Parts: sequence; C-alpha cells; structure tokens
Amino acid sequence: MARVVVLGAGIAGHTAALLLRQKLPHPHEVVVVSPKPTYNWIPSNIWVGVGMMKPEQVVFELAPVYRKRRIDFRQARAVELWPEGGADEPSPHVVVEAVGADGAAGERSRVTYDYLVNATGPRLNFAATPGLGPAANSLSVCTHDHAAQAAQALRGAIERLRRGDRLTLVVGVGHGTCTCEGAAFEYVFNVDFALRQAGVRERARLVFITNEAELGDFGVGGVHIRRGGYRVHSRTFAESLYAERGIEWITGAHVQRVEPAVLHYETLDGEEHALPFDFAMLLPPFAGQPIRAFDQAGADVTADLFAPSGFMKVDADYTPKPYEAWRASDWPRTYQTPRHRNVFAIGIAFAPPHPISRPLKSKRGTPISPAPPRTGMPSAVMARTVAESLYGMIVLGLPGPTRTASMAEVGASCVASAGASWFAGSAASMTMFPIVPDYEKYPEFGRDLHFTYGEIGSAGHWIKKLLHHLFLWKARARPGWWLVPE
Ligand SMILES: Cc1cc2nc3c(=O)[nH]c(=O)nc-3n(C[C@H](O)[C@H](O)[C@H](O)COP(=O)(O)OP(=O)(O)OC[C@H]3O[C@@H](n4cnc5c(N)ncnc54)[C@H](O)[C@@H]3O)c2cc1C
Repeated sequence: MARVVVLGAGIAGHTAALLLRQKLPHPHEVVVVSPKPTYNWIPSNIWVGVGMMKPEQVVFELAPVYRKRRIDFRQARAVELWPEGGADEPSPHVVVEAVGADGAAGERSRVTYDYLVNATGPRLNFAATPGLGPAANSLSVCTHDHAAQAAQALRGAIERLRRGDRLTLVVGVGHGTCTCEGAAFEYVFNVDFALRQAGVRERARLVFITNEAELGDFGVGGVHIRRGGYRVHSRTFAESLYAERGIEWITGAHVQRVEPAVLHYETLDGEEHALPFDFAMLLPPFAGQPIRAFDQAGADVTADLFAPSGFMKVDADYTPKPYEAWRASDWPRTYQTPRHRNVFAIGIAFAPPHPISRPLKSKRGTPISPAPPRTGMPSAVMARTVAESLYGMIVLGLPGPTRTASMAEVGASCVASAGASWFAGSAASMTMFPIVPDYEKYPEFGRDLHFTYGEIGSAGHWIKKLLHHLFLWKARARPGWWLVPE
C-alpha cells in the first residue's frame, strides 16, 4: 500500500489528486493537504474583478468532492518537509499546520508519505513593493476575494465617471520581476469593456504598466504568429489591440512603491516617474511558499531542495548561464526532485531553470523583465504527467517516472477575455508550440508556426465561457470529468 500526499488543491494539485485517485487502486491512499476549504478557478477571477461574475461562481467546496472520490482532505498548510524522516518520525513526512475554523488552527501534525507531489502554487509577494496590494494601496485579482474587492472599487470609479469626474485607471504588474502579464492584459481589456458598457469610457484614462520590454512579450519572449498570410510578432498584435481601444501603455517598468493615489516607477532607461491614479490593479510578483526542509539529523536543507525564489528544484539544469547559452533541454521533463525519487513539484511550485524572456536591467541595475509564466494548461498537463508516472512507479513497479512534459516540448493555448458579453464580448485566442522556444528544432522563430496562432473575436469569448463551465465541471469531478482534456 502506498500513500501519495499532494500539497495544494489548485489547478495542478487538484488535477493530480483526481487523476491519482482514478488510477491508483485501493488500498493505495491519496491525501490532499491545502489551507483553503475551496477550489478557485482562477482564470475566471478576471470576470469577478469587473463584476461580470460573482465570487461564488468561480469557487466550490473541496470537502464534498474529496469525500465522494475517497480522497483524504486535510485543511492545513505544509510548513516543513522531512524527506528522510526525522528522530520523532522515521518515515518521510510533511509537518502541516491546521487552518480549519474548528479551533484547530495553528495545531501542527505530521503527515507521512510514500510519494509527495508539491503543488503549492505561488506566494503572492505583495511585500516586494511597498504599498502594493489590497491590504495597502492597490487592488489585485489573484484570488476571488481580491477580485470581488477590485469589482467594488471599479463600480465606485464608474459611479464617479458617471457624475462627470475624469479618472485615471491603471492596470498591470506591480514589480519589475512579475510574471502573469497575460492576466493583467486580460483584466485591462475587461476594464476597458466595462467602461464602454457603462458609457463612461471617454472620461477615463486607462493605462497599462508592465515589466515587459515590449507589449506582447507575455514572459515567453513574445511569439511570432501567422496572420492573413503574414508572420506577425505578438508585439504588433498586442500594440494594435491597445491602440484600437485607446489604452496607453508603459513598458519596461518596475513599480518601486505605491502610495494611496500615486505610484512610482523606474523604467529601463533608469528614469524615475510618478503616475497619479484613481484605481490601480497591479499583480504582485510570485515566490514559493515558505516551506522549510530538514534532513534526518534535523539540519536545515531548505537551500538544497528549494531555489532562492522558494520554488522547488526538480530535474532541470540550474547551472547559471547567459541568455545566449540557454537551451530547451534546460527545462525539466519529469518534475521529479533530483535528491528524492519520491518527491515531485508541479505547476507554479517547481523552480524554472531561468526565465524565458531575455533578462534585462535598467541603467541603474534594477532587474526589469518578466519571470516565466506557468499558466493553467501546462500546470494541469504536468499534473497528468506526474500522476501517470506515479501509477507506473506504484502499480507497475517501474524504477522511475516514464512520462514527460517539458515546457520546451508542450504547447499552450490561452484565451484572454477582452470583454464578457455573448454578443458584444470578445477574446484574444493564442496558441504556441512549444511554450519555451527551441531554436535548435525551430531555428527561425524558436516555435512551430503551424501551431502558433493568434486571433481576436467574439468566438474567443464563447470558447472562454465554455472553458469556464467545462473546467469547473471537471474540477467538481462531475460525470465524465476525465473526458475534459487539460
Ligand atoms: C488573475 C489570474 C488569471 C489567470 N488566467 C489564466 C488563464 O486565463 N489561463 C491560464 O492558463 N492561466 C491563467 N492564470 C494562471 C493560472 O491560474 C495558474 O497557472 C494556475 O493557477 C497554477 O496552478 P497551481 O496549482 O500551480 O497554483 P494554484 O492554482 O495557485 O494552487 C496552489 C494551491 O496550493 C495551496 N497552498 C498554498 N500554500 C500551501 C501550503 N503551504 N501547503 C499546502 N497547500 C498550499 C493553495 O491554497 C492552492 O490550493 C491566471 C492567473 C491569475 C492570477
């Protein structure tokens, strides 16, 4: 009998847990440890953030789903990892801290495992920028609560615009090292759409601020796409979308601090600027969860298992190299940790070997360039890959993982909403293959242009809405859930 413990119940962890439970015969056990009682379909937080959806439409209770699927759910946060066991508990285990509403909050216990899947996602590092975040001077859409707060602020701004005020609304990323520029891109288009629907767009100045050196980089170094017989760079595609909507943009920016109604930022040329605002939704940089690791003797080995960013090291090549020496083969394939064959990290929790976009610094030496994105589709594909590898190792007795899903060998599709309405709405649909460019295989553009595509239109909105329902159906493990692909 083997026990697989999955840390985290987001896109990666929840997908892995459902697939593991489906594949592993009883009495093998699947345990999920996650601090929140709910699952959040994060991509639809964008619609919550403009008031087009209610928070309860993007979340559901995990406990009933896990009860039905016979997955053991512990509402707790992992705080320590003992992969060799320790003096008090000789088996590999995780120390978890309960966070339930039943008075057990803060109580620590040990959860032993035979196999561990770390899918703890990002720590939202608002503290990296003074004044950033919903507890301070800006808004976020990273969680459904943050998004509901942003929607309320947007309603307030629309009321003021209706009364005749002229306002500046800023959307973007709140630090020079952020990722998730695609989500900020999506939100700014939804804000633009909401303002137009409310008939107040002409009184609003809408500004997009990003750490990307140019629009359309998205943390993947931009993509070339085929459009109308031409090969177009995503910069052209993105700039034309912003220009058509009258959205101003500031690129190559590091937000230094956010004061109650003004944000300060530095640009790649080393200049410092101030931007007064009435509404600001700025995504935070991501870091790994603060989980410490110990060896059998109790020595702290956190730095061996985790990168300085807090993300877990897996089968990637972490040798420091200049941009010109980066290779597709640097990227992990199995997500197994090199030190422990029974520990895996997937989704945002794994440490990328390096960025994908060219790293840039301002003239003053401030790093200003996107961290690599790990969006929903690759996160879920990694979950399936690891679940299948674990089936091989546990049930078939294979010596190691057999399934692979390198981000340099898999593609991603992303449908970025540009307004939620059946008839007036639209979305930018993009596919790229592979996510990490491979210039050895595709010397010209690093990607296969037959599978790298971009388009905007109302069909994109219908697909996005359909995906919202399909992915929530799948996450709720409703009949036929496994037929819905990642
Ligand atoms: C606003 C927004 C919009 C987005 N839109 C899209 C989109 O349209 N398409 C797309 O593909 N991607 C999108 N993404 C990215 C997508 O949400 C992520 O790729 C995805 O959520 C990553 O999955 P994950 O499981 O790694 O992390 P998460 O989904 O964040 O899950 C992490 C889980 O770990 C739990 N956890 C945290 N700490 C601990 C701990 N110490 N112990 C145990 N559990 C812990 C959390 O509670 C959570 O359950 C968007 C992201 C944002 C922020």
